[in-house]
Amino acid sequence: MDFDLTTEQQQILEYGNSVAKQYDRRYWLDCAEKREFPAGLYQKVADDGFVGMMVPEQYGGAGQGMTEMHLFLEGLSNNGIPLLNLVVGATMSLGLIAKYGTEQQKQRFLPDACSGKIRFCFAITEPDAGTNSMRITSVAKRNGNRFTLNGQKTFITDADGSDYALVVTRTIPHTEVKRKTDGFTLFAVDLKAKGVSKQYIPVSIPAPETQWQLFFDDVDLGPEDAIGEIDRGFEILFNSLNPERILVGSICCGLGRYALNRAVDYASGRKVFNNTPIGAYQGLQHPLASAYTDVEMASLMTLKAAWIYDQSREAGEFSNMAKLAAADAGTKAVDVALQCFGGNGFTKEYGIFDIYPLVRLLKTAPLNREMILNYIGERVMGLPRSY
Ligand SMILES: Cc1cc2nc3c(=O)[nH]c(=O)nc-3n(C[C@H](O)[C@H](O)[C@H](O)COP(=O)(O)OP(=O)(O)OC[C@H]3O[C@@H](n4cnc5c(N)ncnc54)[C@H](O)[C@@H]3O)c2cc1C
Repeated sequence: MDFDLTTEQQQILEYGNSVAKQYDRRYWLDCAEKREFPAGLYQKVADDGFVGMMVPEQYGGAGQGMTEMHLFLEGLSNNGIPLLNLVVGATMSLGLIAKYGTEQQKQRFLPDACSGKIRFCFAITEPDAGTNSMRITSVAKRNGNRFTLNGQKTFITDADGSDYALVVTRTIPHTEVKRKTDGFTLFAVDLKAKGVSKQYIPVSIPAPETQWQLFFDDVDLGPEDAIGEIDRGFEILFNSLNPERILVGSICCGLGRYALNRAVDYASGRKVFNNTPIGAYQGLQHPLASAYTDVEMASLMTLKAAWIYDQSREAGEFSNMAKLAAADAGTKAVDVALQCFGGNGFTKEYGIFDIYPLVRLLKTAPLNREMILNYIGERVMGLPRSY
């Protein structure tokens, strides 16, 4: 058994440190405040070959695995730069196209997406279906050999800056299928197409990628836009959920580490009684040490989940546990770090409280903590289902 990273993997993890010299947390927060996509940072990451990390080399990617993608995202987040599009676009959308797209679709989308010329977002959530994706009501109705898409999606990250959305829709309504997982299809929808409109959703989370409702009104789609088999999209979708959970784990561990490192620096210098740095008080030191341990344990679980995924083994158990552990550990780490900063933690200048909303979001999205626990309870431990 070997827990060491290879030299190349170590470099991928440390890449975030070098990027942060040019595009640091301050830059990321400035973009968030202006609701402006961090185009300079994204283009640098694309130029350095990291947007296409998991895309095969013949389509402009780096041909690496989930382990490397995890290390890359964790390394950026260690520096306080959690780029969400790298989850919904670079991994979920490009990963699915690379795996299930036709040769023509790969040529059409992947080289431009890897180079940063076009971006994807991922759209599954609907206002009425919520967590229960089986009940989505958007429908792409067959019309000869073409499809007409109608429906609505909500909370779609980066929909305004993206060129395409990978949309999960029904091609058979849920009331007409034998098995509830039948009748789903994934389409790459051009967001400039006739019949597509969007509405901004203001959220209380500092992040440069903004949230949008998407409306589809008689949007014309062809078989060339369907990614994977028509009506069998759920199986494809299922394969994208573990990568998403793993990378949420990467972001939470990184942000937790970033907050703790900031707290250690601050608590080692700040003195308010007897010339003793506040970091010497065990009332602060022990929570920091405990949070640090939780982050490192979650990070190990996330790495294991990524490794299992790369072995083409069933990764649901470890991906879910990694996401659960990392979202809890990241949230705890930010809370503990915040306490060290006293009043300064709540100022814009120090920017510590600003870390909290995003890391806390990741307990609720993309899959809430309760559904993750349901998965572990039912699927992993064999307990009966309540819902
Ligand atoms: C900032 C942000 C970005 C997002 N980005 C995207 C995106 O890019 N693409 C996309 O498709 N979606 C996106 N989402 C949507 C996100 O995935 C959903 O909000 C999330 O899955 C929860 O669904 P819901 O909001 O409808 O909650 P609901 O389904 O209404 O659930 C509410 C709460 O009920 C509880 N609950 C529900 N069912 C159960 C159960 N069976 N057992 C126990 N408890 C349960 C949970 O605590 C849950 O938090 C985003 C959301 C936000 C806020």
